[in-house]
Order: sequence, then C-alpha cells, then structure tokens
Amino acid sequence: MALLNDHYLKLKAGYLFPEIGRRVNLFCQNHPEAAKRLVRCGIGDVTEPLPPAAISALHQAVDEMSRRETFRGYGPEQGYEFLRHAIAQNEFRDHGLDVADDEVFVSDGSKCDCGNILDILGDKNKIAVMDPVYPVYVDTNVMAGHTGAADEAGAFSGLIYLPCTVANGFVADVPRQKADLVYLCFPNNPTGAVASREQLTRWVNYALKHQAILLYDAAYEAYIADPAIPHSIFEIPGARDCAIEFRSFSKQGGFTGVRCAYTVVPKSLAAATRTGERTSLHPLWLRRSTTKFNGVSYFVQRAAEALFTPEGKAQVKELIAHYMGNARVLLAGAQAAGFAVYGGVNAPYIWAQAPAGFTSWQAFDKILNEANVVITPGSGFGKNGEGYFRISAFNSRANAEEVARRLPALKW
Ligand SMILES: *Cc1c(COP(=O)(O)O)cnc(C)c1O
Repeated sequence: MALLNDHYLKLKAGYLFPEIGRRVNLFCQNHPEAAKRLVRCGIGDVTEPLPPAAISALHQAVDEMSRRETFRGYGPEQGYEFLRHAIAQNEFRDHGLDVADDEVFVSDGSKCDCGNILDILGDKNKIAVMDPVYPVYVDTNVMAGHTGAADEAGAFSGLIYLPCTVANGFVADVPRQKADLVYLCFPNNPTGAVASREQLTRWVNYALKHQAILLYDAAYEAYIADPAIPHSIFEIPGARDCAIEFRSFSKQGGFTGVRCAYTVVPKSLAAATRTGERTSLHPLWLRRSTTKFNGVSYFVQRAAEALFTPEGKAQVKELIAHYMGNARVLLAGAQAAGFAVYGGVNAPYIWAQAPAGFTSWQAFDKILNEANVVITPGSGFGKNGEGYFRISAFNSRANAEEVARRLPALKW
C-alpha cells in the first residue's frame, strides 16, 4: 500500500477558522433575527474594492492578451522584470536599502512562500517561533517533519516557542538557546505589535552570532504609522547576511483575492551544507522557483506594478488610511468596553484581553451571542494567546463604528 506523510496526522484536527465558522453557523441557525445584525471582525481578509490603478492595469493587460502581437504565454517563473524592478526600486532602493531586482522573487502569496522556503532549508534546523504565532509557520514545519507531536495546548515538541506577553510588549527578546531558523512577523498578526530598531538589531545580531536565518514576514509593513519603526529587516545592518523577507500585496493593495506577493533572498545569504560549507541560498530559491512554479499571471503582475505609479501609491495610502481609521474606532470602542487593549496603531489588528475569568473561547461565545460580533479567539494562535482575542480592522467604517458601540454595552 502507498504510504502517506504521517506528519500531517500530528496537526491538530480543529483548525481555528473552521471552528469559528461552525460556531457562527450554529448561531445563525438558532437566531435568524440576530444573524441579520452579525458583524464579522474575525478572519483577516480585506473588504474594500481594489485600487482603481490596479483595475485599469488589469483591463489593459486583458486587452493585450486579445491580440497576437501583445499576447503573453509563460512568463519568467520568478516574476516579470518590470515588477521585480518596480518592487526593488520603490520598496527598497528608494528607502536607501540595498536590494537588487534579481533578489526579488514574485509569487502568488506569502503564505505559500513561508511554507515553500522550507524546501531549500535542511531538516535538522532548530526552529523558533513567537507564541502567539501565525499558524502557517508552525504547521508547515509539522508537515515537513521538523517537530514531534502536539501537547494539550497545541504546542509541538521540538520547536522553541518564545512567549509574547504584556511583560515584553508582545515582542519576544532573543532566547539564550541557539536557534537556526527564527520566524519573525512585524507588524504582528495576531497581536498588532511592532518591533523597534533596537529589538530588531538584537535579533540580527543574534542571527549573525549563531549563523541563524531570520524568516521575516513583513506582510503588514504598509500599516506602520510610527516613523521610528523599521518597515524592512534590511534596514538593520547585517540583515543581508542573515535574513529572508516575505512581503505581500494582499494587505497592502487589497490583493487577497488577486494573489501576488514576493520574497527577498539576498545573494549574500548563506547556510551550511551537510559537510559544513557555507553556500549561498539565492541559487537554490531560484532553482526551486523555476522547477516548482510557473509564475504569477501577467495581468496580476501588471496590477501589482500599477500600485507603484503615483496614482497607485496615493490609492494604496487611502486604502490603508481607511483600515487604520477603523482600527482607531475599534481601539476606542474596546477601551470603552474596559478591555486591556494592544496593537491597532501600526497594524490592522487589535489584541484585547478578555475580562478576568474568561477564556478566549468564552469571550468569543459571549461577544457572538450578546453583541453579535465575530472576533478571533487568541488561544487559536498559541498558548500565550489564551485569554485574549483579536479584533480585525478589515471592514467598512459603518461596521467598525457599530462594533465600537456594541462592545461597551456588554456586561461581563
Ligand atoms: C495575510 C498574511 C500574509 C499574506 O499572505 P498571502 O498569501 O500573501 O495572502 C502573510 N503573513 C501573515 C502573517 C498574514 O497575516
């Protein structure tokens, strides 16, 4: 009989979002009237239409496909030159950061990239993640066989979990232990925390000292409002020798349904072979991309490119201002409700502490039943998420205002 990948069987059965869906569906069946006033602040998906610059680029690219002279078939697997250049120039070189066009690899999503990167890394690495954590980092390592089994709280043996708590402002410091791979996500999903230049410098120095690699997820960098907070790990001296950065147009341009992201792999980044020779990773990622991927569609890459035109940039700014306006409204509402609240200033997520005695799921059920609002239970992101919940600012302004009115009316 054919064998399956046993590691998949270690994954916890009840994944967070299906369980939220189940409870919400049940509520809607049992309370059809209340269901009509349901507001969803749960899953981190954008709600507003695409920037007009992206729409017109899409239309134009479709028209190009209708004529033999301008038709395009397969493109370069790692992305069209026009988009890699626009990204490297606008997102990095214009900010004084040394990133070459061919260090940018265009893909159909950061979620995929975060998982796929494991293809070019060894199986014996010691892996560190923050807790709470974006589940993709953990689950892809479980699937690859890099962990043991999960415990009651869902923590996998073999991983280093770095607690993110009120005490450390939800930004874990470097551990005493040596790790080979460290997943960092700032601005953070789910806590909305950002890392300062000093904190990121400590991480880069840690990585250089241990010859570790930082896997830096900057999916929310466009939401940073504080000018002192770094947008890229490459703002930290030495990061080109120890970091890979993941970025996405999903939250920046509202592209969650369009699908376009990119990964920056510096040519100076190296890792050890089995026999201990320092070897560059860039050719491996190029090889992986060209072998296992056939590129993002031409239309989508033109749409992403259009976000870097002057109109596109202004529209992206407006889109982010809309969501961050929601975040301010929701933050004030959650404060008025008496919750201890974090995040929501440089990120579209508010991390709220449930009143004493309430678990994350108990708070979820109460907010669903009594306020008819869907939030995300913090315990779904890890042991240290227990007792917290995440409120997403991806919504209409009217919905954000409605939620901000309803939360303070709850009696706990
Ligand atoms: C939304 C999100 C992404 C983006 O994923 P895509 O696959 O590009 O849509 C990446 N990382 C985190 C933490 C996210 O929340």
